[in-house]
Amino acid sequence: MVVTRKKLVPDVQANEVSYGKGNAKKYIVVHETDNTRTGADADAHARLQYNGNSRNASWHYTVDDKEAVQSFEHAWRCWAAGSTTGNNQGIQVEVCVNSDGNYQKAMLNAAELVAKIMKDEGIPISNVVQHNHFSGKNCPSQMRAGKVSRSQFITMIKNASGNTTQQKPSTDTNRYRVLTGTYATKQAAENVLDVLKHRFGWVAYIEPDEAKWRVKTGTFTGMDAVQAGANKIKTAKLAQVTKIVVNNIKDQDS
Ligand SMILES: [Zn+2]
Repeated sequence: MVVTRKKLVPDVQANEVSYGKGNAKKYIVVHETDNTRTGADADAHARLQYNGNSRNASWHYTVDDKEAVQSFEHAWRCWAAGSTTGNNQGIQVEVCVNSDGNYQKAMLNAAELVAKIMKDEGIPISNVVQHNHFSGKNCPSQMRAGKVSRSQFITMIKNASGNTTQQKPSTDTNRYRVLTGTYATKQAAENVLDVLKHRFGWVAYIEPDEAKWRVKTGTFTGMDAVQAGANKIKTAKLAQVTKIVVNNIKDQDS
């Protein structure tokens, strides 16, 4: 789950750049900052809002490849969507496109954040919309250009929802692992291992395979869980091929 912290704009100032409170919270509106400058990350945008944005604009969250920062509680009707309905009924999420950031990772973080807001506010996935939906503006522009397509983003949200919500009781109590295809260098495998351990928070290992290397996850209980894990690896483009193996022998990791 993406790390989310609050740096809330003080009420007096919030009243200057919004329609005040009373947001109907029916939609989650996805934007991109369109700011490609180095360092134009979530922290920088949150500080901009906190310190008094000179533009007549405001938004609830800024997300980058490291974290999400919340600037307004959901109740505020921020000025971001370019239409009264969008502003009065939408929770606005800006995704960073700074050139020193990883866009793919930022979108994964945005998907996790959106999944959390959906759950917290009871907003259906059909009401996760682009800024373009309300005003016709070309925003989020890189998503609209297909860098991470809308359908890929929806899949990311669904994967994230599976990890944060429900877990309906499964009758399958088998334990499974995901194995990736092989990587030519140990470094490549280590890069993937790093993401699994530190971004996904999983147990994972590197295994030699002939002259190559592959990554093996810790165990998941049930086919649904392991399938979601394999999908998450593929969606993050960490491996082109994944294989699911049964692992009912009790061993060190879980
Ligand atoms: Zn926008």
